Amino acid sequence: MILYNSLGQTKQEFIPHTEGKVNMYTCGPTVYHYAHIGNLRTYIMEDVLEKYLRFAGYDVKRVMNITDVGHLSSDADTGEDKMLKGAKREHKTVMEIAKFYTDAFFSDCKKLNIKMPDVVEPATNCIDEFIHMVSVLLEKGYAYIAGGNVYFDTSKLDNYYVFGNMNEDDLAVGVRDSVEEDSNKRNKADFVLWFTKSKFDSQELKWESPWGVGYPGWHIECSAISCKHNGEYLDIHCGGIDNAFPHHTNEIAQSEAYLGHKWCKYWFHVLHLNDARGKMSKSKGDFLTVSLLESKGYNPLVYRLFCLQSHYRKPLTFSYDSLDNAAIAYDKLIKRISALNPEGEPDTEAAKPYLKEFNDALGNDLNTSLGLTAVYSVLKADISDATKLYLIGEFDKVLSLDLTKAQESKTDSFANEEVEALIAQRTEARKNKDWATADAIRDKLKEMKVVVEDTKDGIKWHFEN
Ligand SMILES: [Zn+2]
Repeated sequence: MILYNSLGQTKQEFIPHTEGKVNMYTCGPTVYHYAHIGNLRTYIMEDVLEKYLRFAGYDVKRVMNITDVGHLSSDADTGEDKMLKGAKREHKTVMEIAKFYTDAFFSDCKKLNIKMPDVVEPATNCIDEFIHMVSVLLEKGYAYIAGGNVYFDTSKLDNYYVFGNMNEDDLAVGVRDSVEEDSNKRNKADFVLWFTKSKFDSQELKWESPWGVGYPGWHIECSAISCKHNGEYLDIHCGGIDNAFPHHTNEIAQSEAYLGHKWCKYWFHVLHLNDARGKMSKSKGDFLTVSLLESKGYNPLVYRLFCLQSHYRKPLTFSYDSLDNAAIAYDKLIKRISALNPEGEPDTEAAKPYLKEFNDALGNDLNTSLGLTAVYSVLKADISDATKLYLIGEFDKVLSLDLTKAQESKTDSFANEEVEALIAQRTEARKNKDWATADAIRDKLKEMKVVVEDTKDGIKWHFEN
């Protein structure tokens, strides 16, 4: 596979550390509010990446954190804790807020056919790991204590701005909302690894540490959780482009200082979802969630299709008009697929060029819009319907648009009709004391894995589990 790597800013051949295996890490949600559809664009495209790697034969292990502590209202490390803000807003405890919005996040993911990562780890589960990592960074001289907090010393690194094309002054502006300069910092780019002192001292969750009672910084979370579950060598780290700096930059700084070697090979960043006013965010305008789209009558998979129609490295502009177009395209596509006749065996030889078309599209830096074109090529192709359905079923392992679902339920209803008919014939045969026919039908039903029960309400049946 060819993948664009933010590290080096070029398309590169994807070669994992261990042949056939991929260690993948995804920055998870900060669970203080619903996810807006802009955040979910990132998770959809990461899901496609994971599923394509599996489709291409890799054994993938994907880890995701849940930020339930330590993410301050600025992406630098100033301001109030986002979780605490959420708890205050809703008059709940931080843990109640975390539980509620974690569930809401995964429910949105499910509606969008985003697979659950193999490991989901809340930050509050890993306090020991954070403390360990911070201790090692202090021992190695990459961190210092000032004003009660532990800071990472970015001046100890030869190359802190690893994603290139970055200029220190621009980046200082990039650190949004950080109006007040933290006078404890030795260098502008230094960041907090562990807080014991904060201007906002109402932090609800605190833990003992060698540096006093406090709580972890946000960035240390992802480094420690990734090392815990993915080991010392990470193949792909994913996230939204807005996390490239400072979050991912800081993750690399502390992970590599801690490990003493290069940590992650490929950085996969998904571009923003914009609306007419610019980058979409929770604080601006309509707060667009999956539930809001549903309440307006959209199938969440229409939003998934809308995302797949564009390349993940291009900003995508959301409007209801474009979503309506995606809805029309989706309905037409499902109708065409449902009309196919599922009978017969697929011709795997005839399927090959279409599998190649799909593979070439997704294998070239995840070109999902060409992947969708491959679906239309199949529909137009001079091959049997069974072959078309086989191919679309294969593609949908990656696209996850439920393309063959209607077809499957059609097949199910054919099967149901057949069973009902056989049971009726068997009842008739028994009534006529035609035991041979009744037994033959019984055997046939058994073969079809149908369990028939005589109940006082009449005959009931179901397929064996
Ligand atoms: Zn992260």
